[in-house]
Amino acid sequence: MTAKTEIVPPASIAVIGLGNMGLPMANCLLRAGYQVTGFDLSETARQAFSAAGGQAAANLVEAIQSADLVITLLPDGKAVRAVLEPLQQNLRPGCVIVDMSSSDPLGTRSLGESFVEAGFEFVDAPVSGGVKRAADGSLAIMVGGDSDTIDRIQPLLSAMGRSIFRTGQLGSGHAMKALNNYVSAAGLIAAVEATQIGEKFGLDPELMADIFNASTGRNNTTEVKLKQFIISKKFNAGFPLRLMAKDVRTADDLAHAIGVPVPLADTCAKLWDDASKMLGEKADHTEIGRHIEKLKA
Ligand code: NAD
Repeated sequence: MTAKTEIVPPASIAVIGLGNMGLPMANCLLRAGYQVTGFDLSETARQAFSAAGGQAAANLVEAIQSADLVITLLPDGKAVRAVLEPLQQNLRPGCVIVDMSSSDPLGTRSLGESFVEAGFEFVDAPVSGGVKRAADGSLAIMVGGDSDTIDRIQPLLSAMGRSIFRTGQLGSGHAMKALNNYVSAAGLIAAVEATQIGEKFGLDPELMADIFNASTGRNNTTEVKLKQFIISKKFNAGFPLRLMAKDVRTADDLAHAIGVPVPLADTCAKLWDDASKMLGEKADHTEIGRHIEKLKA
């Protein structure tokens, strides 16, 4: 049995998924002194990681077989299950798995329990703050799972995040992340719709943003997105619309699975799903107004 000590540098960490978030977060671990091996299906991502001084593995088994701890930063819970389930026999005994993707909480709970039954430790630790805060190690991290395990990985989480919240049982971090993004997504739609109505009625959108921000309509969108990315039509906030649609759908599915009526989340999830289908893979989430405008035509 492995001694239950803190996982500190130079422990061996595998990061699976070196995309927009995984690469800068892996770089934070390298800077903190961990030995980091990374893997991504994309060769470009693997090359970017090597260029940053990381060890890029040729395949998943090579990436994880000698790791003390495995981090997943994959598109969703389905991808995490597809990657992790077949790897169980290749993990080092006592290995800790930390799913930092925005996955579905009930899927996480059953996946995590199967790993815990097999003798591993498993926590969910999704993040908020985007690529900029991933790069400077100042993310918000919400962690669900066994508190002794969270104690052990605290130094590693601190290398990537500034605000680390313990949310409770396994899956609760993923529930919190989806619910946070639902609130953010609903606020964004409200701000976009209000601006579109106001503009058609003759209000100046920039003035509207100033008034929201001095009044009770203020939210994250009115403060940091409305003028910057939406009114300016730059639409380059950096968070893909497809990921926001997934997160809102995750929150809505959770509500239905546990029997909580959510008429607003139902409508919101459908709007983001439809927008994602209409605007495609590359659309930024601040482009949702383009879909809403089309509905009015
Ligand atoms: P991304 O699409 O940029 O990166 C995902 C990476 O996973 C890709 O490079 C892809 O090639 C790789 N991948 C997919 N399947 C794989 C497999 N089977 N094996 C190895 N690699 C595989 O996504 P991202 O923006 O880095 O987001 C990762 C997670 O973090 C998502 O769950 C997302 O919802 C969440 N998140 C993203 C942001 C953001 O601002 N982008 C913010 C907070 C949370």
